[in-house]
Amino acid sequence: MDKSVEEFMTKVKDKNPGEKEFHQAVQEVVESIMPYIQKNPKYKKAKILERMVEPERVIIFRVPWLDDKGEIQINRGYRIQMNSAIGPYKGGLRFHPSVTLSILKFLAFEQVFKNSLTTLPMGGGKGGSDFDPKGKTDNEVMKFCQSFMTELQRYIGSDTDVPAGDIGVGGREIGFMFGQYRKIRNEFTGVLTGKGLNWGGSLIRPEATGYGATYFAQEMLKTKGESFKGKTCVVSGSGNVAQYIVEKIHQLGGKVVTLSDSSGSIYDPSGIDEKKLTYVMELKNVQRGRIKEYAEKYKCEYVSGKTPWHFKCDCAFPSATQNEISKEDAQTLVDNGCILVAEGANMPTTPEGVEVFIENKILYGPGKAANAGGVATSGLEMSQNSMRMSWSREEVDKKLQWIMSQIHNSCVKYGKDGDFVNYVKGANIAGFVKVADAMIDQGLI
Ligand code: NDP
Repeated sequence: MDKSVEEFMTKVKDKNPGEKEFHQAVQEVVESIMPYIQKNPKYKKAKILERMVEPERVIIFRVPWLDDKGEIQINRGYRIQMNSAIGPYKGGLRFHPSVTLSILKFLAFEQVFKNSLTTLPMGGGKGGSDFDPKGKTDNEVMKFCQSFMTELQRYIGSDTDVPAGDIGVGGREIGFMFGQYRKIRNEFTGVLTGKGLNWGGSLIRPEATGYGATYFAQEMLKTKGESFKGKTCVVSGSGNVAQYIVEKIHQLGGKVVTLSDSSGSIYDPSGIDEKKLTYVMELKNVQRGRIKEYAEKYKCEYVSGKTPWHFKCDCAFPSATQNEISKEDAQTLVDNGCILVAEGANMPTTPEGVEVFIENKILYGPGKAANAGGVATSGLEMSQNSMRMSWSREEVDKKLQWIMSQIHNSCVKYGKDGDFVNYVKGANIAGFVKVADAMIDQGLI
């Protein structure tokens, strides 16, 4: 490791002990940015990096609620307001038992760069709770969401901080939280994104992260004169992001052969077509079942407790969670002929896995670039809310495609190295410059 990166990371680790996901996300960015900062001393003098790793504000709160048996339950809620130099804090809420301060700080840190890349005026934030919606009734989820928002509403607002969904937070949860915000504050504003269509939501928002990741992958393929036609793709996860990646790849002529959840993966060599995807959406979004049931219905292979990276493919879309591709998984993908990895999830590849992709010069699109279509479309939802109007499906989709191609161009601009594009370096530097310049312009705040 470069000496200045090592020194910087020692300070970050000392100041934030035990936060290993946060350290991992910061280190990846600092490794890309340090050489750029050395060449541009104004950022060094203004201590921009040192300021960026310190959240503007961290809020931690108690969330008490009553379950269906009348028993009191207590969860912990968080909101990390990381950086608002270029716009209101913006980033999702995650409800999952694995949620910790470290995970939310890593996500909030990544979000700052991602939001900057979208071309839209959005700062970075993230939040959530260790609450597990799995196995809870709709009534219990509502009780939790209402209690969570009763506290969170003090800190957010359409010009201050605009949360959205993430793992465990979809349309149902956003609805319950929006209702509670409206009741307490007595105002109807665009304080959350991912809302229902008839109460301020944007067309294409549910599809946006998955479609965006596929559009980004398409841009990467174009640089090699390739397209999705005839490509075999593996996708992990089976939630919001995974579902719409499957839909878009299918529309563009590719074939998706896997999906997964935290229990295991299915392998369907005949491909997941529209009809099968409709079944997955009903299974996951309505019945809230397990992906194993897909294998039973369509008589295909199911591997319990395993990720899908050992199945042969041309393109891979990790879309479940952080650190789901190890060094060995990355090597297996490359050995099996995979030419492209586009991250639907945030930081799904370990640093050692990323090294394998870069060393082998495959097309590797990190999450902060490849999955930025979700937050970009949230930004479009905010614009529509402010204007009190709504755009058509075609208009939003066109804007999303344009934004993804702009993000791709920015990555190429800062990441091109001969005929190879290092998208990690490109995304980190492009995201950094806009925020860093805004921080310098606004003085020591
Ligand atoms: P969902 O909750 O809709 O789906 C998550 C999927 O990932 C489920 O299939 C879930 O399986 C699986 N999963 C979650 N945790 C784990 C785990 N620890 N191990 C294995 N599988 C796991 O979430 P999203 O689709 O919204 O989010 C997926 C990823 O995409 C996350 O990294 C998120 O941060 C990222 N992302 C999402 C955006 C969005 O707009 N929604 C925007 C940008 C990034 P199970 O049901 O078993 O838990």
